[in-house]
Amino acid sequence: MVRLLALLALPAALCAQLGYKDTPVIPGQPWHVHDPDRPHPRMVTAGAQPGDAPSDAIVLFDGKDLSKWAQHGELGRTIDAKWKVQDGHFEVAPGSGDLFTRDKFGDAQIHIEWSEPVTVHGASQDRGNSGVYIQSLFEVQVLDSWNNPTYADGQAGGIYGQWPPMVNPIRKPGEWNVYDIVFEAPKFEGDKLTKPAYITLFFNGVLAHNRKELNGSTEHRILGSYKPHGEEPILLQDHGHPVRYRNVWVRRLAGYDQPEK
Ligand code: MG
Repeated sequence: MVRLLALLALPAALCAQLGYKDTPVIPGQPWHVHDPDRPHPRMVTAGAQPGDAPSDAIVLFDGKDLSKWAQHGELGRTIDAKWKVQDGHFEVAPGSGDLFTRDKFGDAQIHIEWSEPVTVHGASQDRGNSGVYIQSLFEVQVLDSWNNPTYADGQAGGIYGQWPPMVNPIRKPGEWNVYDIVFEAPKFEGDKLTKPAYITLFFNGVLAHNRKELNGSTEHRILGSYKPHGEEPILLQDHGHPVRYRNVWVRRLAGYDQPEK
């Protein structure tokens, strides 16, 4: 309140200025506190409802078709996605193979919704298994973890084989779960890893991973490793179970929070 009163007492001309150059430089940044020369963030129109794609998102599935996705056919050829689209969602076609985006991504915000089969079959890893493989290498596990014990780093929301989610906020089979992921891609100089991958995950709005560092690709029963790569597709796993997905979008993050020159 004292500060507000002080501000109100300032001359109108001073209040109208767009910043200050007589303030300290922020440690680690080239900018003064309230620097008027600092570039402004661009405008983005938020989605109408929470979970809707904002204006700068690349929509990967809008309920209608899988044109942004592909699969591997015979001899490794890229073919159109064969998974089933109906009623605004798409569903794993068991045995047809993984789905992957035609575009490739690096640092990214990813929104994806998924739902488990209402008819429960199998147990542990054999129940409603699929997965969101970021850059086709780093799996955020999709599994029916409603009353379904399995190893902790393989349950829903787990970074497979590396990090269990901090909590398990999964919904019942047939209800829709939401992943909001922030992914920092690994960086390489030649063959050398200069920055590992990091994953932040909100699972149904609940923080499940807070910038967890990955020790490489996610693997089954072995440790992962890093091999140099650039941008890569997002891949959805066909683990033989009819898991459903809907409302998938991604935002490229490169350049948003780099130190401004
Ligand atoms: Mg999986």
